[in-house]
Amino acid sequence: MPTQNCDLVLKGSYILTQDDERTLIKEGAVAISGEYISAVGPEADIERNWNAAKTIDCGRSVLLPGLINSHTHVPMTLMRGVADDLPLLDWLHNYMFPIESGLTRELVELGARLGCAEMAASGTTAIFDGYMYEESVGQAVFDSGLKAVLGEGFFKFPSPFFKTAQEAWETIGQLNDRFKECSRIRTAITPHAVFTTDPDQLAESMEVAQKMDLLWQIHAAESEPETKLTLETFGKRPIEILRDYGLLNSRTRIHHCVDVTDEEISLISESGAQVSHNPQSNLKLGSGICPVTRFIAAGVNTGLGTDGAASNNNLDMFDEMRTAALLQKGFLKDPEAMPAGTVLDMATGNGARFLGFEDTGTIKSGFKADIVAVDMDKMHLKPVYNPLSHVVYSAGGQDVCLTVCDGKVIYQNGKHLALDVETISREAEKAVNWALKRLETR
Ligand SMILES: [Zn+2]
Repeated sequence: MPTQNCDLVLKGSYILTQDDERTLIKEGAVAISGEYISAVGPEADIERNWNAAKTIDCGRSVLLPGLINSHTHVPMTLMRGVADDLPLLDWLHNYMFPIESGLTRELVELGARLGCAEMAASGTTAIFDGYMYEESVGQAVFDSGLKAVLGEGFFKFPSPFFKTAQEAWETIGQLNDRFKECSRIRTAITPHAVFTTDPDQLAESMEVAQKMDLLWQIHAAESEPETKLTLETFGKRPIEILRDYGLLNSRTRIHHCVDVTDEEISLISESGAQVSHNPQSNLKLGSGICPVTRFIAAGVNTGLGTDGAASNNNLDMFDEMRTAALLQKGFLKDPEAMPAGTVLDMATGNGARFLGFEDTGTIKSGFKADIVAVDMDKMHLKPVYNPLSHVVYSAGGQDVCLTVCDGKVIYQNGKHLALDVETISREAEKAVNWALKRLETR
């Protein structure tokens, strides 16, 4: 007879634990108590030891840690497909900014709800976000059952959102207070980019990050035109600006890092800053290819992110993993570059470190129960030699059949248990006319 009680047991044909030994368990099960994993092991052992209030048998499936998206702007789902096939600066200044300057809190929350529904259904359990009206994003994340680091973005002051620095810091303080009781939601200081802020403002924002003990994130070195712009404006490359203004340290999270020199990679490595790799967004905007294998070789912790859905155009981390692996192989003409295990590490444990959610990203006793199941009973996932290979090279977000975050089932077999997707989808269709009107008046 089992001697211990737990709330939930998940069973699957395979468990990719993502622990340090990359342990693969066949015919495995996970016992969950409250928000935490109590035990993981062969199904027979879990059944022998644990008496579960509820059991979900995922059938022919792979269980893996919930995927972690290290860079996104989740409300940008509302702009999915509104402007494609444009270079970064044209896309930003002539399409994104005119639409975004008319956003309301309600529209931001709607976009965030849409993004959360998409992510829950495609196996993502945590995101590092950056946008405006992040309190509304936080509400959507809170309701969805997912996890997020929220970044209230700011540009040069005055902006459509903040007249002064003081106003921005107060809003960030309120955002942090609003969700401080919720362990699933944290805050980060979020200047948009080195070319849309000024260096003194960046330095001040890092002081705020230190005072509030928060992470500090920025887009930097995303493309060669950005480097040209910062050289013309400040006489320095983007990473040199970060160095010279004291912005490279263990709180720093840098998104993109496409146009970087070897010296800049060393600087980032020595500082303890971390990098988010966003291959599909970089490809779609024609920004180039991040030398991510060099960052990894230099010991930089590197996460994987989709960026916003307007430059991707989805939030599917399976899709992103496949791209990340294939891209470096072609770029470096080396099929051994970016093996499947490295890519899955970026989307799980390394992503968890990037977000500062250290107790997630691994299926291991004592870690948070953030677990997804991929249904392997599909023609494009047969036969199975190596489930890790299928997760990175063959599966897509649409193959996810179960998403559990903090021990709660939030998505199962096509059904959302936390979000009202009918209302979200109806309202999202209505937002199309609003966005098109904004572009007419630009
Ligand atoms: Zn971005």
